Amino acid sequence: MSTITALDVSDIRFPTSTSLDGSDAMNLDPDYSAAYVRVVTDANDGHEGHGFVFTIGRGNDVQVAGIHALSHILVGRNLDELLDDMGATWRSLVWDSQLRWLGPEKGVMHMAIGAVVNALWDLKAKRAGLPLWQLLSRMSPEEIVDLVDFRYLTDALTRDEALDILRSAAPGRSERERELTADGYPAYTTTPGWLGYSDEKLVRLAKEAVADGFSMIKLKVGGDVDEDIRRVRLAREAVGPDIRIGVDANQRWGVDEAIEWVSRLAEFDVAWVEEPTNPDDILAHAAIARGIHPIPVATGEHMANRVMFKQFLQADALQVLQIDASRVAGVNENIAILLLAAKFGVPVCPHAGGVGLCEAVQHLSMFDFVAVSGSRDGRVIEFVDHLHEHFVTPVEMRDGRYHAPTAPGNGMEMLAASRAEYVFSESDYILSK
Ligand SMILES: [Mg+2]
Repeated sequence: MSTITALDVSDIRFPTSTSLDGSDAMNLDPDYSAAYVRVVTDANDGHEGHGFVFTIGRGNDVQVAGIHALSHILVGRNLDELLDDMGATWRSLVWDSQLRWLGPEKGVMHMAIGAVVNALWDLKAKRAGLPLWQLLSRMSPEEIVDLVDFRYLTDALTRDEALDILRSAAPGRSERERELTADGYPAYTTTPGWLGYSDEKLVRLAKEAVADGFSMIKLKVGGDVDEDIRRVRLAREAVGPDIRIGVDANQRWGVDEAIEWVSRLAEFDVAWVEEPTNPDDILAHAAIARGIHPIPVATGEHMANRVMFKQFLQADALQVLQIDASRVAGVNENIAILLLAAKFGVPVCPHAGGVGLCEAVQHLSMFDFVAVSGSRDGRVIEFVDHLHEHFVTPVEMRDGRYHAPTAPGNGMEMLAASRAEYVFSESDYILSK
């Protein structure tokens, strides 16, 4: 019998604020960071599970403390039992009767659970010798629904309905797995669109995106409406009429402001408006969606859990659903959200970028294509060309598409040298400022 011997947690921060990479209307100077966990065992098989929570700097130490707080649930536990029943493992973490008070199922503790759950899936996939997307895609519909906690979902999605969705996708799985391996998954890029970039850099990066094969780019907006009009016009001129342009306000507006602002950008044929307002405000998103129709509202990167996604879908408050690999409680909860999206017929276009989010979330979209929605139509994964060099298996982009990963695991393992170099200490931080 092998057991988990430790959750090794570290505070890793990249000083990205010096170049304004990642700057938007709400997040002015992010230092892209990871509260990083390594699940260590005594199995002597050479495998560790890796996962993390993405943060943007200050508070990463709080997130690290959240992950540490889960050690008592896992350390000393039988590894095979944990990995063989990941539904029960997920519940043992989410339902801890004392830690649950800190949410419930939202914020620092829930994200900490996500890091640990993702690390356990990484370990399970490595032991199976499969990339995570393929491991999930080869599970039976019954095994997949057993991963999901339906307690708060049945008014929108029952276990039997989820089973029907998965069973109807099952016959095409192997054909879609071949398609995915042959031509990958479509992507869009936010690389040109950060608010802190000069006009020259915006135009140059927008043209490079088209040359690299992307069919969509995204620009940050919400600072100043006249500036936004000018920048979106520049981008539209740079990419031509056939490339889609999304805009992202990062929660900057109230309802009326959002509708008014978007109406002034509509002439540039906007593909979607992302995070127009507070991520918890379902009714405001629904009002904005009605007010800017037919431009879709996209949101989800800050959505706390599956219960919020359920309500947004019930209220028709989003038309593009953006999962994030490290916001909710890991793979299990994201599977619940993918099933909800399939039930409501809403395309899933994941949030990525940050530190390792591209590496992580591609597995979920690929699993969705093979085993859940069965479709890539109208779906794109975000891509940002930052920090990939720090990962053991960085994403491979070909002609604006994510190439299907073949390496075992969930993609979240950061190089040991990078973890050592960017481990945070307060004295480094004071010097860098
Ligand atoms: Mg965004």
